[in-house]
Amino acid sequence: MTARIKKSFSDLDVNPLLYWLTLTYLITRTIEKFTGTSEFWSSFWNGIIDFFGEDDFNFKFLYTMIYLNIIYFGFGFLYVIMDITNKPKFMQKYKTQPEQHQPLDMNKFLPALMVVIFNQFILSGIAIYWTYRSGDWMLSTNIRETPTFTRLIAEIFGFGLTYEFVFYYSHRLLHHKSIYQYIHKVHHKWQAPVALMAAYCHPIEHIVSNLLPFIISNLLFRHTLATTWVIYAVAIISTLGDHSGYHLPFLHSPQFHDYHHLKFFENFGSNGFIDKFHGTNKKFEESIQGLRHRTLWSLKSSNELFPDDKVTEKEN
Ligand SMILES: [Zn+2]
Ligand SMILES: [Zn+2]
Repeated sequence: MTARIKKSFSDLDVNPLLYWLTLTYLITRTIEKFTGTSEFWSSFWNGIIDFFGEDDFNFKFLYTMIYLNIIYFGFGFLYVIMDITNKPKFMQKYKTQPEQHQPLDMNKFLPALMVVIFNQFILSGIAIYWTYRSGDWMLSTNIRETPTFTRLIAEIFGFGLTYEFVFYYSHRLLHHKSIYQYIHKVHHKWQAPVALMAAYCHPIEHIVSNLLPFIISNLLFRHTLATTWVIYAVAIISTLGDHSGYHLPFLHSPQFHDYHHLKFFENFGSNGFIDKFHGTNKKFEESIQGLRHRTLWSLKSSNELFPDDKVTEKEN
């Protein structure tokens, strides 16, 4: 069964968060032009530093930890509340595996949440502290420095490429039959993913697949602190979405990684271009999930656009 339909420009696998970022920048520039002001974001960032007090340890470690965990657990719990309550009703149509988590099994979820807390606070904490201690090898020394918009987007792309390479190959290695059961089996306990379980994995996996891409990106690009905060927001919101089980409009489609949890044998990357190169996404491309894998630019769900019983659309 072939279910391939040519994708239009809007279906390109560009993370829509980049579109939102660009739109925010353009709006800011327009306002700056009309009000005769300039450098809004730079002043905003410096205002935060003035407000909390300029301190390298606080900003590069303590506030960074607080910031990234507010995003992780804040957004994560919003998704999980929908899994626990199955409300609001109108959100249910966006579920990628509609029959799952009705409601969420708390006996499975709560112990797993402890592992996530350990990974997020202890292991990520060590990595963030190490990044801080390594000085200007990994972070621009001056915490007040902000990138130009072009540089910010270029560094996000640089991070994206780094992430894809490290994540794909480490993930594929973790699937090797001689090591799978010792490490990666933990993460695959969730065949229907749950947002907060994005960081539910063996400590070795958290270091190699989740933290290493950030460390390498910092070494390669020596981001400013402001840039790393934007990258953390983009990366965390994306991975939460990938594991959420909800294919929401105007956000990146989670179908690719959701399929990996469901079927296990394909889609080792995040964006998917290395999977395309190695041919590890062939079955996915021909599946209904592959057809649904696109950014939704209306409130119609992917299940409504491509219902289960209409998988026979053919290309050429
Ligand atoms: Zn896997
Ligand atoms: Zn996963």
